[in-house]
Amino acid sequence: MSKPHQSELLKDSLGTEFKTVSHMVYLYCQKHHQGSPICEQCQELIDYAEVRLDRCPYGHAKPACNRCPIHCYKPEPKQAMKAVMRYAGPRMLIHHPILAIRHLIKERKAFPDKPPAGLSNRALRKEKARG
Ligand SMILES: [Zn+2]
Repeated sequence: MSKPHQSELLKDSLGTEFKTVSHMVYLYCQKHHQGSPICEQCQELIDYAEVRLDRCPYGHAKPACNRCPIHCYKPEPKQAMKAVMRYAGPRMLIHHPILAIRHLIKERKAFPDKPPAGLSNRALRKEKARG
């Protein structure tokens, strides 16, 4: 098993984003499900987020999810993630201030309306594998 808050697939800004979202789900789970450290359902949500980040067509130019014009989450995990964000968002500043501030900066960053083609982490990984 990989370390919590770290993705084997995602590096750099996507890796940081994964770390941020994973910490948020942990905070939420500890409060709402008494996760020790995390319940199965929340682990699934983190895994889902990892796949979505890997496939995000914006790749490393990805905007903050709450500003993204593409709604890539299915309704159910979307609802679950919304609840996580609502609870953990304000608490991140206390528990993980550096990650929280980085995310706030990201929310102000400009991004193109339409993602360029072939930029997702997954596409780049496949290209690399092809050589
Ligand atoms: Zn949970």
